[in-house]
Amino acid sequence: MSDGAEIFTGSFTQQEPIPEDAIEAAIDVMRSGRLHRYNTEDGEVSALEREFAAYTGAKYALAVASGGYAMGAALRAVGIGPGDKVLTNAFTLAPVPGAIAGVGAQPVFVGVTEALTIDLDDLEAKAGEARVLMLSHMRGHLADMDRLMAICDAAGVTVIEDCAHTMGAAWRGQMSGRDGLIGCYSVQTYKHMNAGEGGFLVTDDDDIAARAILLSGSYMLYGRHGTRPPEAAFERAKYLTPNISGRMDNLRAAILRPQLRKLDAQCAAWTARYRVVEAGLRGTPGLTVIERPEEERFVGSSIQFLLGDWPTSAIRDVIARCAGRGVVLKWFGGAEPEGFTSRYDSWHYAPSAPLPKSDRILASILDMRLPLTFSEADCALIARIIRAEVGAVWQGLGQAAR
Ligand SMILES: *Cc1c(COP(=O)(O)O)cnc(C)c1O
Repeated sequence: MSDGAEIFTGSFTQQEPIPEDAIEAAIDVMRSGRLHRYNTEDGEVSALEREFAAYTGAKYALAVASGGYAMGAALRAVGIGPGDKVLTNAFTLAPVPGAIAGVGAQPVFVGVTEALTIDLDDLEAKAGEARVLMLSHMRGHLADMDRLMAICDAAGVTVIEDCAHTMGAAWRGQMSGRDGLIGCYSVQTYKHMNAGEGGFLVTDDDDIAARAILLSGSYMLYGRHGTRPPEAAFERAKYLTPNISGRMDNLRAAILRPQLRKLDAQCAAWTARYRVVEAGLRGTPGLTVIERPEEERFVGSSIQFLLGDWPTSAIRDVIARCAGRGVVLKWFGGAEPEGFTSRYDSWHYAPSAPLPKSDRILASILDMRLPLTFSEADCALIARIIRAEVGAVWQGLGQAAR
């Protein structure tokens, strides 16, 4: 780092404050004392479920305790249990294989492409190995959903979507989470709405909705749900479905309802920041920007780029130099999981076959959050820093005959 070089001083983990109207709504709930969802006839959770169902265009929405809980409930609701296999992405985060392992099932990992989406050729080849795909739209990259659904429909594979990074995104106008039988979302602090912890599950299917509501711990008070299937669906499931408590409470729901009203504007603000970083990085020698398909309306709450086939030491050098100037990059190529960046071969409870093509891509992925507390000027500065440091290390590599 040369003297006088620009330094970024923002925090990559600093979210925006909870909006004032959400704080007011939370205080009202606390004053009422009625925090439990079934302590009110038609309270905040129930209203939030109606609003989230309307937002996604789903018949039913269920608010739950976390995104991971939503995925586990989805797997149970489709009948996945001990010994079953579930297809899932090799490029994803720990709660995804964790949800599969949590119901006693085993992940079958499907590779990743340079577009950072699930490898559809690998999916086609493995589709016969399981009857469910837990599809993780990792870091907001949507695969070609038309081809993906055609592959899964042809093979009789049920799709559950992990939309932790695609809340508010769409593929050819279809909201993310609405192609599969069930869509799962997270509203913990690092996602697109912030309740601290929480999640949603959406579906159009009566029986799935009834089972998910019963699973979440409805104490036979399912009649109080904002969106609920006909009584007959509950009659079919109510004596067969265990109560595995994972409800959302009225306090979190109160914080989320005003955020849902602003969600589209927030998503647009993320993507504007993403486009600034992307433009600043484009054309950097040795660095590959991920091109986004036209069919995809993504939410740019994080950005990734590739340092393809760079030596490990040079990637570490880039990360250290950027960190020295205040820019925090995560790397998916590290031998040991760090923070949020564990990879499929770090999950020893879930045996995996080697995926050499994916390993090569994972080893090149650098990843950065873009919290909305960053201005577009901040984003331009961040891109200048990365560009300069990648450029410096790349030049050094050239001299050392790369
Ligand atoms: C955050 C996240 C989830 C769900 O997370 P919770 O922390 O359980 O709410 C699922 N998948 C991915 C890829 C995530 O990043």
